[in-house]
Amino acid sequence: MNRGEYDGRSPVEKRLAWINDELTCLENKKLRRRLSVREGPQSARCWVDGRELINFGSNDYLALAGDPRLAEAVAESLQREGWGSGASPLVTGHAALHERLACRIAEFEGAEAALVFSSGFAANAGAVAALVGPGDVVYGDEKNHASLWDGCRLSRADVRAYPHGDADRLTALLAKSHHYRRRLVVTDGLFSMDGDLAPLPALVDLAERYDAMLLVDEAHATGVFGDRGRGVCEHFGVEDRVDVRIGTLSKALGGVGGFAIGRRSLVEWLRNRARSYVFSTALPAVTAAAAWAALDIVEREPDRRRQLLDRARRLRESLQAAGWNTSASASQIVPIVVGDPDRAVRLSAALQEAGLLVPAIRPPTVPDGQSLLRISLTAGHTEAMIETLRAALKKCLPSQGREA
Ligand SMILES: *Cc1c(COP(=O)(O)O)cnc(C)c1O
Repeated sequence: MNRGEYDGRSPVEKRLAWINDELTCLENKKLRRRLSVREGPQSARCWVDGRELINFGSNDYLALAGDPRLAEAVAESLQREGWGSGASPLVTGHAALHERLACRIAEFEGAEAALVFSSGFAANAGAVAALVGPGDVVYGDEKNHASLWDGCRLSRADVRAYPHGDADRLTALLAKSHHYRRRLVVTDGLFSMDGDLAPLPALVDLAERYDAMLLVDEAHATGVFGDRGRGVCEHFGVEDRVDVRIGTLSKALGGVGGFAIGRRSLVEWLRNRARSYVFSTALPAVTAAAAWAALDIVEREPDRRRQLLDRARRLRESLQAAGWNTSASASQIVPIVVGDPDRAVRLSAALQEAGLLVPAIRPPTVPDGQSLLRISLTAGHTEAMIETLRAALKKCLPSQGREA
């Protein structure tokens, strides 16, 4: 047989035929994802697929992604630094701008030291896998971000999920953990889809009682929560009782990159052992200039975060009064839980018709049966834009509220 080409398909086509079957299967379950194309800067209004929409679909919480001050900082340092960093940090990739940024992040966070990764994903995956290994155990909230789960799996430690926010279940698990060498608890501080906060005061107590390390991922809270914008740990006043805090430069700080902060020894360990740090090229140094400018703004313009959280609270209250299920949201992330993925997609499409971008979030990002619309408020939204959203939800979907 001449290499199986008798039916007109090449061997590669035949071997990959299962992918088309799987994609059709996703399509039928309304779970196939598609890219839309945004033109122009990320902001509260954006052009998507050729149409201008009010944008409730970014993580640009402080409206810094399109801020000209960040672009100017990059343009200015680009002249001196050039573009690429050309090597991993431990080889020759670590530039003076990276070094200054790491010190600045540590200072901003009130921590001894910080390590900058190429993304928040890399920070989580690298840090978790560096802290535990075979013979250890890691406990994670079932709603933790995918990057934390990937870190857990990479670590080859025993991995246990506990029900969302359930400190009692975690207590029961920790009570049976004494035979492990090391224990680690990992949690999002602010959960990315439900917009609720982890019970950090209970978790720090448990970590102390059972001698477990605690890692908190502040990806959605950096720049937004806490008096100084350090995140949910600051909000609860537990920063000093948390072993590792992870943050990202890509959400409220409007750029790219992630970081881990904590004691000097911890950061030194991660610098040696976090594989996503050791084996990946350093970010272009100019991205550190953007992060520097963003931190300036976070420090000098605290009203951005205060007003954002205030508006989010009022939006949640009015949506709840209209009968929508906003889950346990306590933040600028306001979900409308509808359950069925098809319904979430239809609601999102109806809002898009009305000029609003509100993404439908489906499995595997959320568990089966918990599809939702994810409203993400930013400092760039005006009261008028939020009112347009309220009115559209009311008008397009008059019968959909109560049942949800
Ligand atoms: C987005 C996100 C990350 C990853 O951060 P990136 O900088 O986008 O890679 C990590 N954790 C959580 C909870 C996130 O939502």
